[in-house]
Amino acid sequence: MAALRGLRQCRSTGIAMSHFHTSSCVSAKQHYKMLVLGGGSGGIAMGARMKRMMGAENVAIVEPSEMHYYQPIWTLVGAGAKTAASSGRPTATVMPSGVKWVKSKVQEINPDTNTVRTDDGTEISYEYLIVALGIQLHYEKIKGLPEAFEHPKVGSNYSIQTVEKTWKALQNFKEGNAIFSFPNTPVKCAGAPQKIMYLSDAYLRKTGKRAKANIMYNTSLPVLFGIKKYADSLWDIVKRRDLQVNLRHNLIEVRADKCEAVFEDLDKPGETKVFEYEMLHVTPPMGPNPVIKGSRLADGIGWLDVNKDNLQHKTYPNVFGIGDCTNLPTAKTAAAVAAQSAILNRTISRILKNEKPDKKYDGYTSCPLVTSYNTVILAEFDYNGQPLETFPINQAKERRIMYHMKADLMPHLYWHGLLRGLWGGPGPYRKLLHLGMK
Ligand SMILES: Cc1cc2nc3c(=O)[nH]c(=O)nc-3n(C[C@H](O)[C@H](O)[C@H](O)COP(=O)(O)OP(=O)(O)OC[C@H]3O[C@@H](n4cnc5c(N)ncnc54)[C@H](O)[C@@H]3O)c2cc1C
Repeated sequence: MAALRGLRQCRSTGIAMSHFHTSSCVSAKQHYKMLVLGGGSGGIAMGARMKRMMGAENVAIVEPSEMHYYQPIWTLVGAGAKTAASSGRPTATVMPSGVKWVKSKVQEINPDTNTVRTDDGTEISYEYLIVALGIQLHYEKIKGLPEAFEHPKVGSNYSIQTVEKTWKALQNFKEGNAIFSFPNTPVKCAGAPQKIMYLSDAYLRKTGKRAKANIMYNTSLPVLFGIKKYADSLWDIVKRRDLQVNLRHNLIEVRADKCEAVFEDLDKPGETKVFEYEMLHVTPPMGPNPVIKGSRLADGIGWLDVNKDNLQHKTYPNVFGIGDCTNLPTAKTAAAVAAQSAILNRTISRILKNEKPDKKYDGYTSCPLVTSYNTVILAEFDYNGQPLETFPINQAKERRIMYHMKADLMPHLYWHGLLRGLWGGPGPYRKLLHLGMK
């Protein structure tokens, strides 16, 4: 119940940790040259880079959570291939040393007065602002959630409170439908809702239960994956492994007492279908962070309105954005955050010198499509939906080496590279491996 309350209220709990940086709820100093909102992937990476650029004493990061999670590994946690504990570290240990950690929630951003108000009433002013507030999960928009997570058989890899429930539901599977949903909204890591289906299929085969399982991917989208090259490979896989794909199906209700999931048919308004389930994996609807949505920094929908080339805000030149909270027209991933962090670093360093931003973000993003416990299709693409592959091999093919990259190499790259502001994506390696041709 406590976990569910956490899901409803999105409040952080935990024990305060002390480390090299300073942290407090009410800060003594109320002004920073560089204020970073959000201490997730993008916020910590930019905090580390800004510390190098202007000195730790000039940088503060506002982040309420005691724990920082490497979310991409939750796909493997939900399938029992990694532990939930391995996905998190205390925020204190990832804060760049010497940088001020304001352990509060941002309540309001006022770019006209260059100020931010936190939930304890503190007002902080800034010279420059980086917004890295991520995307908001909306489990509550599906009728019957989040309460349905109190029942077995329902899980979701999208939250630390529910990811282990996926693994429990999979282990306890006896016979019937295993259903995997994709909502009718933008999401982070658009491959994750189906990766857990492939892993579940592999698990059920391994444990001899596959013959008794009917595996279904019910997605709101009209396609299996947005980039044709990878979608073609995925269609081959679903056909070969007898996985049923129902396009334009949107989960609207979970009746946990009856083990029923209700989907609307997006092509036939008003029509719904009820599916019984033995296991249900929910990818929740998602949307803009409410703090941005309620501010003058938002576009018409609520995303942070930034220039897609240099990540500078379109109206307020001293404001910048990175990651899932922005309206950058690319897939929302940590891989995208890495590439964006290098561009944003360059943009800010030019602006500090009164020069025009010169480097352009090409929309690079990546999605390691886990297709079993030892294979991955490594999708990499740009703003135009064109593959932008690092390796000079066909990455649409399932490969064991790519699985090891996902499971073993990428977590290290995240904790020791991205979060320290040292990893700006594979661009330079791609150039090298393609002999300067890409
Ligand atoms: C199941 C799953 C699988 C994924 N798989 C992959 C993958 O394989 N590859 C990949 O590259 N990416 C993957 N991702 C996506 C990746 O984790 C995100 O795109 C990335 O973390 C985005 O970084 P961010 O900084 O924009 O947001 P986040 O890392 O989510 O950080 C946002 C931060 O803002 C804080 N915040 C929110 N509101 C406030 C407030 N009001 N005040 C202060 N702070 C606030 C939050 O506490 C959080 O720390 C996956 C994600 C999930 C959930």
